[in-house]
Amino acid sequence: MAGKVYLVGAGPGDPELLTLKGKRALEEAACVVYDRLANPRLLEYAPAHAERIYVGKESNRHAMTQEEINALLVDRGGRGLTVCRLKGGDPFVFGRGGEEAEALTGAGIPWEYVPGISSAVAAPGYAGIPVTHRGLCSSFAVVTAHEDPGKGDSTVRWEHLAGIDTVVFLMGVERLPEIAAQLLAHGRDPETPAAVVSWATYPRQYTVTGPLAEIAALCREAGLTAPAVTLVGDVAFLRSRLRWYDNRPLFGKRIAVTRPREQAADLARLIEAEGGEAILAPAIRIRRIPAPDLSGLLRPYDWVVFTSSNGVYSLSAALKEKDRDVRILGNAKIAAIGTETARAVETIGIRVDFVPSQFVAEKVIEEFPEPVAGRRILIPRAREARELLPQLWRDQGATVDVVPVYETEADLEGLGELRRRLAAGEVDVVTFTASSTVRQLLRMIPESELQGVRIACIGPVTADTARDAGLQVNVVAETFTSRGLTDALKKLFRDETNE
Ligand code: SAH
Repeated sequence: MAGKVYLVGAGPGDPELLTLKGKRALEEAACVVYDRLANPRLLEYAPAHAERIYVGKESNRHAMTQEEINALLVDRGGRGLTVCRLKGGDPFVFGRGGEEAEALTGAGIPWEYVPGISSAVAAPGYAGIPVTHRGLCSSFAVVTAHEDPGKGDSTVRWEHLAGIDTVVFLMGVERLPEIAAQLLAHGRDPETPAAVVSWATYPRQYTVTGPLAEIAALCREAGLTAPAVTLVGDVAFLRSRLRWYDNRPLFGKRIAVTRPREQAADLARLIEAEGGEAILAPAIRIRRIPAPDLSGLLRPYDWVVFTSSNGVYSLSAALKEKDRDVRILGNAKIAAIGTETARAVETIGIRVDFVPSQFVAEKVIEEFPEPVAGRRILIPRAREARELLPQLWRDQGATVDVVPVYETEADLEGLGELRRRLAAGEVDVVTFTASSTVRQLLRMIPESELQGVRIACIGPVTADTARDAGLQVNVVAETFTSRGLTDALKKLFRDETNE
């Protein structure tokens, strides 16, 4: 039985620029054959057991010849497998997808084409340059720059390109001088605006603009390298008005998120929405304490105070383990320290009675809605935590039971990733959202490895812990949430640019 080979366009780089059909082909694949320019992060969609074959082509080093790739696809398809052939951009735009399709047709193996977003259009677009524009441009061409225009073997018909408004070149940025010379020789104005966009749609996207006659020299000076798309035409000047991607507040900034993996998504998304690159490098992992002592619940509490979402979920899991649910909390009032904590309380179906305006012990005490003398208070929280709040309440005559429901431990995988990226000089900021994370991280990573990176903290308590540990804190959020921390990061880089 023959399988099916999907020739799938991966888009230019940003993993979200993949079609839904391409994602499905990946999810169903028994074998994925992928190129260098297909973002490897897309492989996460493929089943864990799927065979993954890298056939990456680098201009000077071919991992596999085209014939070998064709034979590979025919072989896997012939074995009845669903194969996802993942290619950068669109498979049929200088992707040699046509050759692979011919080989499959010749061998009688069913295949389908799943278009992708081509860098020919997306790279200029991400630089703020529409390839066509009413009144400015009515035609565009996509041309390979791979062939050497200096030699006689070029099949590019330069004389025809002279009449096209926008010309987009893929491949061969190193041939820019010859390309410009050919266009000039065929009558293009030396002042024609041009733009070269490298690593388009990635956090490291970089663009050089200038007149056609100078663009090659400008790229050389900037040290711009492949992969890059070159665009020549009047539309290139629109970048000065339509630039949108690489001028966002956190663009190009590499920001490490050290919170536990399952809590990192919110912050990572906010960072990415502002143009930053979120490096997921969890320093700690949450481990629920099995069978915590909840005997106090048999005599009901007046207040249950949650200090983190982990406390909420761990308590709820512990109750379930004992065949109980939140009804055992009876008429206890609920306090949540932090908006994220409050949200967690609501997800387990409880209404929150009190959230302090600031998430520090002193404010909790000051704003607490009733006198605590004679009250019974339960605080389900981490094994290691500050004693301040329970102590202050006890001083006021309350009975406070602190029940550890979870603990944190070092996340060696996440810390390994952080060390690797730090050593490579690939981290601009390390963010901390809890004191426990700071302590755990510094237990595993010598402080000297954090020299030269900026430190951002979610609130004053975390910042104090970091300072006490000898770190220099560059910015502290004003509101102690993921959004507040993202705003603080924006402020940090705004201030640095203005200095
Ligand atoms: N099929 C692909 C093109 C393959 S040829 C597509 O449709 O996009 C490879 C060339 O594509 C590179 O040399 C470069 O010119 C361009 N390219 C692909 N991805 C790119 C990216 N993220 N940024 C800039 N250029 C890119």
